[in-house]
Amino acid sequence: MKNMTMLQYFEWYLPNDGKHWERAAMDAEALAKMGITDVWLPPAYKGFQGINDVGYGVYDMYDLGEFDQKGSIPTKYGPKDEYIAAIKAFHDNGIRVLADVVMNHRMGADHVEIIEADSCANWNRNVVLAEDQTIQAWTGFTFPGRNGKYSNFCWNYTHFDGVDWDDRTKKNGVFRFDGQNWDSNVDFENGNYDYLMGADLDFNNPEVVEEMIHWSKWYFETTGIDGVRLDAVKHISSDFYRHWLSVMRNALGREFFSVGEYWHRDVNKLADYISSCGDMMQLFDVPLHYNFVRASIEGTFFDLRTIFDNTLVSRNPWLSVTFVDNHDSQPGQALESWVQGWFRELAYALILLRRDGIPCVFYGDLKGIPNNGIPPMGTALEKMISIRNTFAYGEQTDYFDFPNVIGWTREAGLAVVMSNGNEGWKHMRLGHHGQVFVDLLGHRTEEIVIDEDGWADFTVNAKSVSVWVPKI
Ligand code: CA
Repeated sequence: MKNMTMLQYFEWYLPNDGKHWERAAMDAEALAKMGITDVWLPPAYKGFQGINDVGYGVYDMYDLGEFDQKGSIPTKYGPKDEYIAAIKAFHDNGIRVLADVVMNHRMGADHVEIIEADSCANWNRNVVLAEDQTIQAWTGFTFPGRNGKYSNFCWNYTHFDGVDWDDRTKKNGVFRFDGQNWDSNVDFENGNYDYLMGADLDFNNPEVVEEMIHWSKWYFETTGIDGVRLDAVKHISSDFYRHWLSVMRNALGREFFSVGEYWHRDVNKLADYISSCGDMMQLFDVPLHYNFVRASIEGTFFDLRTIFDNTLVSRNPWLSVTFVDNHDSQPGQALESWVQGWFRELAYALILLRRDGIPCVFYGDLKGIPNNGIPPMGTALEKMISIRNTFAYGEQTDYFDFPNVIGWTREAGLAVVMSNGNEGWKHMRLGHHGQVFVDLLGHRTEEIVIDEDGWADFTVNAKSVSVWVPKI
């Protein structure tokens, strides 16, 4: 079976020009040739900032760039017909499409409602600071621009647990509506991390659950997407997702890929969420991302043998999606924790060329991030994506035996060596006597010949990685 390679096809600072779907469709063939098998597209529905919304400030999930709402018909990425066309272009090239699904909150309501609420402490949402406040909350969603097409469902305060803004006193806070509890089986940070932003959906309300399932069926049918990336799952009860995943798989009559974003550096939290979802959801390997960050900062002082310690990919390789950075960790964003430049090729080798985990490549690495003056990584990354599909198969043998130089081989014909210190080498067994290997990345120019016992010293430059493949 072909290795799966995901691409996150956006970064935070894409131009707000409504042309991204068009560009994606034109790019599909080249991405397929490179070896991308799955693309994760950004949220495709109308956000409260209209064409300037990256997509996480969800206003109307039925408006895929079709209705004149929030100042424009198209979303940041384009109109609905171009979204559908982009999905078709990916499918025509054999690439699966994963949609970004943001269910935690709604923003940009059409009218305020007067509600009794308890004001909770931001540092512990189970602590009530002031009871029975009368607040004005933005919780009334009627979607006048859509006028009931696809769904008559209108949202009001009974569908939400709370908000962070009282429009009467013009004050921020964490306001929990009277008679509501924060949803359980969420992250324990801040006491209970159900509340993140906007008007927080109450997944204890059967009407909310039913509506989200109605929308999901409509969305899968309308767009033909193949799977989902689920936003902010640590703020949504695992009970809901276990239910939603089984209902949707039954309704569609097929399995579909789902990967959740549970942003926590403690692997135990991730493993717990996965098991409370009945092992039906993959998660991004956030702890591995933080290991990369630390390795890139500590340089020679980092022990490369520990790079996979306490990661999801080592704990639960079948349900782990590995990545280097994303739209939240990129410079200037909410979870900024960018892996330093010199380590990025090493990090990509560690996700693309290993047996375990499904790697997700970041758009910003493939195309650059002009807003931050970050150039594309260039051919090294493209070559590793490509070689993943030809040589990253078969048994994996690790040579994690020295703090500053580690290496591994793949039986199909691949040897990787990396150093965070001096120039070095790794004595490894691969191929057959007399076989010649060259560095795919071109950092080393010599040829390496396998000796009569089947071994060779595979070399690497200082603070670098070399990927040795059979010479053609
Ligand atoms: Ca929530």
